Amino acid sequence: MSQAETMSGLLARGAGDAPAIGAPGRTALTHGELRGLAARTVAALNGMGIGRNDRVAIVLPNGPEMATGFVTIACGATTAPLNPAYRADEFDFYLSDLKAKALVVLQGMDSPARGVAAQHGIPVIELVPDAAAAGAFTLQPQRPLAGTPAAPGEAQAEDVALVLHTSGTTSRPKIVPLSHRNLSASAYNIGTSLALTPEDTCLNIMPLFHIHGLIAAVLSSLAAGGSVVCSPGFNAFKFFGWLEAARPSWYTAVPTMHQALLPLAARNKDVIAAGRLRFVRSSSASLPPQVMAALEEAFGVPVIEAYGMTEAAHQMASNPLPPRPHYPGSVGLAAGPEIAIMDEAGALLPAGEIGEVVIRGRNVTAGYEANPEANAKAFTHGWFRTGDQGVLDAQGYLRLTGRLKEIINRGGEKISPLEVDAVLMDHPAVQQVVTFGMPHPKLGEEVAAAVVLREGHKLDEHTLRDFAAARLAPFKVPRKVVFLQEIPKGATGKLQRIGLAEKLGLSA
Ligand code: ATP
Ligand code: MG
Repeated sequence: MSQAETMSGLLARGAGDAPAIGAPGRTALTHGELRGLAARTVAALNGMGIGRNDRVAIVLPNGPEMATGFVTIACGATTAPLNPAYRADEFDFYLSDLKAKALVVLQGMDSPARGVAAQHGIPVIELVPDAAAAGAFTLQPQRPLAGTPAAPGEAQAEDVALVLHTSGTTSRPKIVPLSHRNLSASAYNIGTSLALTPEDTCLNIMPLFHIHGLIAAVLSSLAAGGSVVCSPGFNAFKFFGWLEAARPSWYTAVPTMHQALLPLAARNKDVIAAGRLRFVRSSSASLPPQVMAALEEAFGVPVIEAYGMTEAAHQMASNPLPPRPHYPGSVGLAAGPEIAIMDEAGALLPAGEIGEVVIRGRNVTAGYEANPEANAKAFTHGWFRTGDQGVLDAQGYLRLTGRLKEIINRGGEKISPLEVDAVLMDHPAVQQVVTFGMPHPKLGEEVAAAVVLREGHKLDEHTLRDFAAARLAPFKVPRKVVFLQEIPKGATGKLQRIGLAEKLGLSA
């Protein structure tokens, strides 16, 4: 089957009466209904003067309307999903940075985005949910909107389907435009890695203003003719109820979510046993091998770690499903784009040598918007530099050693924070750890670690440092260990390594 290269093409694949988008306890919208909704949405937008490559900011709570809003609006315009939890200042930054032509919000939803849109003269369109099936809706402009868009009708492969800001983990968020071709390629790549079929159902617990949930959970499911059940957002206590109601064949999440589920999994053995999970997927941050092992034990299925980033429309590498091996500590094989390791000068390195991970392929963005400096740095020698450091083995499995910006430089000795994390995680009292560089007057940086202990466990700094010293070269042993109740996380659930020393007021 040839690959579709547009959102409309992807949505054309599922059987008319098969479920496409659902929510726990609600009737699912079928693939046929979704196609009807897409055609009506494109016509409605065109009637409001909004066409291809016009930007529609979307502020909706997580759920089926967010999923249907994203895929159907993308059929005729550019979508820009925003975190509904943003405050006025953040909406002000994002709405003007994106040059949004309209804002879609949920009917009745009180959001500061409305006031900010009014200040910028951006028309507000309310999304009115339709009770008939999960995700069905109509669009209602707040004031009459009319006009003829420059480019009406269905979006084409080169058109921009989605603009997202990167997570802002390493610097100010950058705008990433992703074309229909980029998104389609990524959706197919994920479907191929996971052997998705129309029988598959994903339970989405990821935020739908981030690339991971939008592409891995929603789009790859729809492209495979399967379905996605959209939860209102991650909630460890509700997760097993959703698992029981939705009977998904898989779910995908960031490691901090998997970790939060672990202590509850033991109490929900029956639900897991009665379900039909085929595998669990993890991406967007490194999955400690200990967490992978515990998850496989708890869910009784393989845990497939994948490597994604906004600029690649999510997936770059993925571990394969059995019978091919998947390895803890590895993000797997190139899964769509080509992957290589490059040195600073731009030379490609052989297997076994550490360098910067570079990629190229149909899923990779054409470039950051209005950021020539970032583009000049990222696109070199025909490749896109990911900013991540890693090493390929002879079989092509990729192991990440950290982000280049997170590599600790201790007087010239480069230390991988992920390597130190993995060692500290082996201590039975440690639940979560983030190793990072703290300023040091002579060395530049010195190793520090923030640790969250397991419930009911006690541990002191001295004991943990001794534990590390028995397993690591002396220069890698954290000089300082701080114990926290919680490690600060970004909006997408990533542990924040960069800036942690500053936040905690640490220096050597
Ligand atoms: P910014 O680019 O603004 O600093 P960000 O890089 O966190 O933010 P995303 O695009 O959400 O924004 O995340 C991509 C990054 O997440 C990758 O470059 C990589 O560092 C990290 N990542 C993704 N998957 C994995 C994984 N399986 N293991 C380790 N790191 C991962
Ligand atoms: Mg990044």
